[in-house]
Amino acid sequence: MDCLFCKIAAGEIPSTKVYEDERVVVFRDIAPAAPVHLLAIPRQHIESAAVIDEQTAELVGYIFTVIARVARNEGLENGFRIVSNIGKDGGQTVPHLHFHILAGRELAWPAG
Ligand code: 5GP
Ligand code: ZN
Repeated sequence: MDCLFCKIAAGEIPSTKVYEDERVVVFRDIAPAAPVHLLAIPRQHIESAAVIDEQTAELVGYIFTVIARVARNEGLENGFRIVSNIGKDGGQTVPHLHFHILAGRELAWPAG
């Protein structure tokens, strides 16, 4: 499968990983939009949050426990934002489910 984030998860493309286990990898975004900008992905190729189903729900829930742990380790006690872009209008550029973790400054809302 020619997928950038599958290759990053497999270590075939280098990244700065801050956490990894048998199901999930968290690494730093190459073009940070905030002082802290991480991407949390499942190793399993799932195209986007639009195709999460009963089979993948447990994995997605697990990713959120990893995000909470990583946020504590990164010292994000002032808060952070989790974002998942979906499809063209959602601004998704990599078709492998990922959760952006943005922090380190006050973030504007609503987005976009
Ligand atoms: P999307 O636009 O799909 O929501 O998010 C994709 C993210 O992946 C972007 O924030 C982009 O900067 C990041 N990205 C794209 N290519 C690479 C890469 O090769 N390495 C890393 N670490 N991040 C990447
Ligand atoms: Zn993939």
